[in-house]
Amino acid sequence: MMEFVMQQMKSTGIEKTGILIFGRIKMKQELELELVKKYPNLFRDYGGDMRLTCMTWGMSHGDGWYDIIDEIGRKLKDLGAEDMIIATQVKEKFGTLRFYYHYDSDKKYPKSFFDRLGRYYYPRNKLMMRIWHNKYSRGIKECLSKIRKLIFGYTFIEKIENIIDEAEERSSITCEYCGENGKIRDNGGWITTLCDRCEEKKWEKPI
Ligand SMILES: [Zn+2]
Repeated sequence: MMEFVMQQMKSTGIEKTGILIFGRIKMKQELELELVKKYPNLFRDYGGDMRLTCMTWGMSHGDGWYDIIDEIGRKLKDLGAEDMIIATQVKEKFGTLRFYYHYDSDKKYPKSFFDRLGRYYYPRNKLMMRIWHNKYSRGIKECLSKIRKLIFGYTFIEKIENIIDEAEERSSITCEYCGENGKIRDNGGWITTLCDRCEEKKWEKPI
C-alpha cells in the first residue's frame, strides 16, 4: 500500500515539492519517511488504506514542524509508550498541529488505579449527569484532580496526553514552513503559524 501511495505521489510530483493534497500543505516525503523509520510503530499506518486511516496522506502540514513530531516520538519512546500508540491523523488545523492517535488494543499499558477509575466516572443517570456537567461541580472536579496529580503524579495516560498537548501548543509558536519562531496569523480566515520571513514570502510558495 505504501508503494502505491508513493507511486501516486511521484506521478503528481508531490514527493519533491512537499506541497498539496486537496489544497493542503504536506510535509516532504523524505522527511516523513525519516520519521516513519525512527518511530515505526507510532506511524505504522503511514500510507495505509484511506478507508481505515487518515495516515494515507502522511503529515498534512509544513516541513517546519518536523522537530515537533520528532519530539513526540522521542518522548513517547522515553516513556515506553511508542509501541502502544498509533497515529491516526497528523495535520494542521486553524494554524496549529493536530495529532490524533489511538491505543494499540493488542498491547497492555500500565493502567493506574485512576486510569481504571476513569471508565466508571461517567454518570448514566440524568440527574447525576446534570450535576456532573454543572460548572460548580466541574470546578470541584478540577480542583480534586489537581490535588490528586500533586499527590500521586500523572497517570500513564495523562503523561501521553501531556506530550501531545505540549507538541500542539509548541506548534502555535513555530513557523510551519521553516521551524523558526513564529506566531499565529490570520489572513482573512486563512490561519497559519509563520515566522516574519515566511509570512512575507508566503505568496511565492506554490500553494
Ligand atoms: Zn518561517
